[in-house]
Amino acid sequence: MKKIKILSGILLLIVAFTFAGCGSSSSQKTSGSDLKAIKDRGTLKVGVKLDVPKFGYKDPKTSKIEGFEIDLSKAVAKKIFGDENKVQFQGVTAKTRGPLLDSGQVDMIAATFTITDERKKSYNFSEPYFTDSVGLMVKKSSGIKDLKGLNEKKIGVAQSATSKQAIQKEAEKVGSKVTFMEFQGYPDIKSALDSGRIDCFSVDRSILTGYIDNSTVVLKEKFSPQDYGVATKKGNDELAKAVNETISEMKKSGELDKLIAKWGIQ
Ligand code: GLU
Repeated sequence: MKKIKILSGILLLIVAFTFAGCGSSSSQKTSGSDLKAIKDRGTLKVGVKLDVPKFGYKDPKTSKIEGFEIDLSKAVAKKIFGDENKVQFQGVTAKTRGPLLDSGQVDMIAATFTITDERKKSYNFSEPYFTDSVGLMVKKSSGIKDLKGLNEKKIGVAQSATSKQAIQKEAEKVGSKVTFMEFQGYPDIKSALDSGRIDCFSVDRSILTGYIDNSTVVLKEKFSPQDYGVATKKGNDELAKAVNETISEMKKSGELDKLIAKWGIQ
């Protein structure tokens, strides 16, 4: 009898631990509740670029934020709420976008974010919605025509961007020895180019386009194609699914191509 009591006691403990385990794992996992939290809040918070014309750009005259990635984010809001206006934008840079997603200040990032294996360890990425390449911008007066001409020169790149690694690899291929200077943001790199502290400004060509002026030129060479994806926090599986469904539906219906044409990007 005593044995039976001890055994049933052990059984009860096992059952209790099993349920306690279930409880803690479901409270850690945001999956299944992430979309509900966004719906309850009534707005989708998206990190976008504000200084990349045609992708994510805040017009200084009108203060309006617009571009391909803005329209894409609106399409996700429409999928979630049935209303494309239920979206709130926050400006991000290459350096701030990851931390803003980590801290939950934004639900997703649609900001020229290149999908890499390394980044996939930290974030969920949607299927690609655009492919761009890394480019080089120099002063017209420098006479530099290609990567070979950048031998012994200094290249300005943004911190946390893929550009340094991409250019390093390509420079080695053509036998150019280059050095790098890293900056927090793109306006700083452009100023450094203008003041002669660097000889070249390198990042995705779409981003460079926003900084061309009469004194600068983007070289013809392009390197290291970059697939852009929408990033969401790991565990926010319902949101990741809604984003992916939006993008694949837009691909199928031709809407994505229409948007690319609307914004005049190739
Ligand atoms: N697309 C590149 C990256 O994700 C360039 C940086 C940027 O997007 O600002 O690293």
